[in-house]
Amino acid sequence: MPFRWYKSPWWIPKLLPQMFWQLPAPHAEPPQVFLTFDDGPFPQVTDYVLDTLAAYQAKGSFFCVGKQAQAQPQLIQKIQAAGHCVGNHSFSHLHGWHSNTAVFMDDVAKAAEILPATTWFRPPYGKLDYGKYKAVRRAGYRIAMWDILTYDFDKQLSAEAILRKTLPLIANGSIIVLHDQPTCFDKMQILLPAYLDFAQQQGFRCAALPF
Ligand SMILES: [Zn+2]
Repeated sequence: MPFRWYKSPWWIPKLLPQMFWQLPAPHAEPPQVFLTFDDGPFPQVTDYVLDTLAAYQAKGSFFCVGKQAQAQPQLIQKIQAAGHCVGNHSFSHLHGWHSNTAVFMDDVAKAAEILPATTWFRPPYGKLDYGKYKAVRRAGYRIAMWDILTYDFDKQLSAEAILRKTLPLIANGSIIVLHDQPTCFDKMQILLPAYLDFAQQQGFRCAALPF
């Protein structure tokens, strides 16, 4: 069985302090957690996420792929109208280790033309080499990583197993990654209400990344 980093190791933020792995808000009352949704928007899945967040009066952050946003402009409007944060996740989901920096940055800029103005960027696959890290920072973005990766995309894992591993890791300022894409929809319908219930029980507010 492959080793899975549900919790980002403590030393990563020390290496890359200008990336946001957690938003610790020691004085936040109530404490906050940040639910983030990557790779959408897609009809049905993103609609479900929006309806569920609304039912809990929770806010989230959507790291949208430009190509999807272009195909689903009404969903982008719906995300914005509900007061959620939209972040840039590139236009065509390029891998930050296997692409040229100029090509990669063009792809980020192309997404920015389609998406609402945002200062948040999340690298596809979480991969960014040092040159692209500098280029993305120079373009004015804050880089949103995470401290809790759900592995909702992993076919080997059940939603129940994911919850067993991840619920105990949630802390003030946690940034949790989910995917609002069709292949993850079954799990989303278990995971999202479970995280929202947990947050409610523990007194966490589910907030959008500050924008
Ligand atoms: Zn992605």
